[in-house]
Amino acid sequence: MRLDQDWHIHTHRSKCGKPDNTVPAIAAKLDRCGVKFAGLADHIDTQEQRDWFMGVVAENRAEVGALDGSCRFLVGTEATMLAPGRCALDAALARELDFVLVACNHYHLDCVENPSTKTAEAYANHHLDMILGAASLGFVTSVSHPFTLLYGDGIDADEVLRSYSEERLTEVLRTAAEADMAFEISPYRAGNAHAWFRDLIQEARRHGTRFTLGSDAHTLDHVGYEPRDDRDPRAICESIGLTDDDLRPPPAV
Ligand SMILES: [Zn+2]
Ligand SMILES: [Zn+2]
Repeated sequence: MRLDQDWHIHTHRSKCGKPDNTVPAIAAKLDRCGVKFAGLADHIDTQEQRDWFMGVVAENRAEVGALDGSCRFLVGTEATMLAPGRCALDAALARELDFVLVACNHYHLDCVENPSTKTAEAYANHHLDMILGAASLGFVTSVSHPFTLLYGDGIDADEVLRSYSEERLTEVLRTAAEADMAFEISPYRAGNAHAWFRDLIQEARRHGTRFTLGSDAHTLDHVGYEPRDDRDPRAICESIGLTDDDLRPPPAV
């Protein structure tokens, strides 16, 4: 398959984005790597960041408007789900954006609710509650880095994957399809759990659930889907059985 879309790129304007990830530098690298569509997805992690974040969007839009390369850019966000019923992004601000990624597992942030019991099963269930909450918002394009526990306080990410109830996962895939909400495949991360993601993609097809591709690049080295730490993102996507037909296409111009 072609890895020619990347919905999940952080510029230097994200607090964790590196200084080299400027919009012109990202655009030049994506053109070199043959990526045709890119989404700028800087973070909004709290509702209090609203005004600051609107400034980030305005600056990203101005720089995107001045580009003359061949990669098409959209300006969106990666917004944090704070609890199953609460998102850092509100509906009015979502309407100002071209797309919205929502992270349902930013458990390392102080502002994010964690399950009261610190077990793999509790994190698995809480994460699915967060995803169902994201689906009910009505404005989410895709869930960033779903299902894998990124920041578990001593919790084993593989055990979380094994802890999902098949019944609840099916409900989540069906609900997401009804809400037109996709799930991100982050090729570098999916490579840690090939078999699990292969099964997920097969089940998702039965419900019409779609996927987006995202690098989650915070630095220029990670832009463009180049092999990283001996992991080739194209080979990983093929090994989990992802095809172009599983992908949510970028919105029409
Ligand atoms: Zn994230
Ligand atoms: Zn991210």
